[in-house]
Amino acid sequence: MAMRSKVNFKCPKCGKNVEAEQWSAVSGDKNPQQKMKLLDGTLFKAVCKNCGRESTVGYPLLYNDMKENYMIWLVYDDEEIRHVTDYFKRSKSENLSDDDTVEPADPECRQRIVRSPEALREKIMIFDSGLDDKIVEIMKLAYAKEAQMKLRDDSVAAALFSNRDGEKQIEMYTEKGKAFVAPMSRQIYAHLDDKYGGKASYAEDRVYIIDDVWAWDLLRASRS
Ligand SMILES: [Zn+2]
Repeated sequence: MAMRSKVNFKCPKCGKNVEAEQWSAVSGDKNPQQKMKLLDGTLFKAVCKNCGRESTVGYPLLYNDMKENYMIWLVYDDEEIRHVTDYFKRSKSENLSDDDTVEPADPECRQRIVRSPEALREKIMIFDSGLDDKIVEIMKLAYAKEAQMKLRDDSVAAALFSNRDGEKQIEMYTEKGKAFVAPMSRQIYAHLDDKYGGKASYAEDRVYIIDDVWAWDLLRASRS
């Protein structure tokens, strides 16, 4: 179900026309080449043939992997989020009619919404590593907290899961632009899964955006 279209825009540096490819849907098990480009970031890049300037082109995209049974929709604004949320809900509803525009989804299929190409990349790496993204989000907060204790006059701004050649790690970026990585501990993951796995699965069918805000809310709710 790879769907490709072309768009044209003016190069911000030299003003010449740049033609870029856009993919509205990429299937992880059927389009390995596009998946690679998604993971290395080049699927959202276009290079000007005249001056070589690289531009980022953001566009909505549905990524799915039928084998691993998940789908992730990359969208950018609130209206698109509402639209996709409605689509996901209806895709698991039992009273879909035959002429419905929504394709029925497997009840076990994990459905997610992300709001940046980086978040999409991260989700794919988490699911392809056989991990639960909810536990990974909680784990990232724990890693960031630990790292924060060693920082003076700086703070952790973002934490990202990555899997580079089988090396699972948490990458952290600080406000002042420093970056460091910590290997992901299987023991910590297992511990957090024991502690929060049951609570985290409660809203599988209703919550599609699983990120740091979601993890904070869960931790706050389990403390009270
Ligand atoms: Zn140019």
